[in-house]
Amino acid sequence: MLTNLQQQPADALLALIKLHNNDPRADKIDLGVGVYRTDSGATPVFACIKAAEKKLLETQDSKAYLGPEGDMGFVHALMPFVFGKNDPTLGGRIDGMQTPGGTGAVRLALALAKRAGIKRLWMGTPSWPNHAQIVADLGLELQGFKHSSKGGTVDMDSLRFAIEQAGEGDAILLHGCCHNPLGIDYSNAQWDEIAGLLKAKGLLPIIDLAYQGLGHGMEEDAYGLRRVLAEVPEALIAYSCDKNFGLYRDRVGAVYVMMESADQVQAALSNGHALARAAWSMPPDHGAAAVRLVLEDEALVALWLGELDEMRDRMRQVRGRLAAAGTAGTVDMIPFGSQNGLFSIVPLTPEQVLAMREKHGVYMAGTGRINVAGLTMGNIDKFVAAVADVTA
Ligand code: PMP
Repeated sequence: MLTNLQQQPADALLALIKLHNNDPRADKIDLGVGVYRTDSGATPVFACIKAAEKKLLETQDSKAYLGPEGDMGFVHALMPFVFGKNDPTLGGRIDGMQTPGGTGAVRLALALAKRAGIKRLWMGTPSWPNHAQIVADLGLELQGFKHSSKGGTVDMDSLRFAIEQAGEGDAILLHGCCHNPLGIDYSNAQWDEIAGLLKAKGLLPIIDLAYQGLGHGMEEDAYGLRRVLAEVPEALIAYSCDKNFGLYRDRVGAVYVMMESADQVQAALSNGHALARAAWSMPPDHGAAAVRLVLEDEALVALWLGELDEMRDRMRQVRGRLAAAGTAGTVDMIPFGSQNGLFSIVPLTPEQVLAMREKHGVYMAGTGRINVAGLTMGNIDKFVAAVADVTA
């Protein structure tokens, strides 16, 4: 029976990590998997998390089970940063639960949408590949529209057309900020328009916020989410703390539900609890507990926000250098300087991506996506020269 299970292709990005590890060249460059790196190529544990973990070690007196909702102290402590300090629950209309990372949050948001009767999801493409995988696994119908036009700007016409075509009762998945893989975000004015269009059409927005604080700042990066929530009656929000707290393998995320009343929200969340119980029972505690301890301590919050500032500054510096080096090859076609977050796409063919790897030791996703944070002041010239070479 089990022989019915056919060999599946390895996850392309995870396979790339192995290829990179096995490459003996000292000057190889890893622009593959999406983790932040310092200018020396490290992905260190945040100082605020180290401090919180120390506190956790000293004060945690039990590891007994929580519930499928996880650490609600964490879920609530995060809310002022996501939804705004003035009224983070929008008068009791928002609540949430902890999930295993942003992936668990996306999974649960889409599963809740499906349970509520949603059959079709609209999504800008390309997107984080796991979005489509989760949609397929849940058996939802996926309708794509072009996220950006050539030249690296948002394709508002495609989005408007998609919303026009969508039926009432469909859902639409939007990246809150730092679009993966394109780095191309909606402007505030575009979010204003999107919020109005979603309201008018009665679409259910599902907003994936996996990089808050890595674009322009914690408040700035929440603009679109908050604008949409201010207009629509209902929404689902999938949140990841894995990038903005550097907790990747600890799997820290949350799903939030916004509805018209607190009672409705608790009923919807009881479905989330049931789905979680049947899937992973409860989320891993350690990372979320550490985030909670950061968020409950003003000094640690200041330390955390400073660490985010430093990360953003470095990525802006790299993007500035890429934009300045734009005379070489293909790189000049990308408005790196105006893009946000960890990713951009360099429009290379699969053959050129292969040549980047084999000839130059530069590892990037087959789509041409680069992790901007994989570039350093020490290797950026080599990267630009390699692009010029493979596109010559
Ligand atoms: N959403 C998007 C858009 C992402 O890029 C990612 C991570 N690559 C996630 C969600 C999930 O992040 P994680 O599960 O690592 O928290």
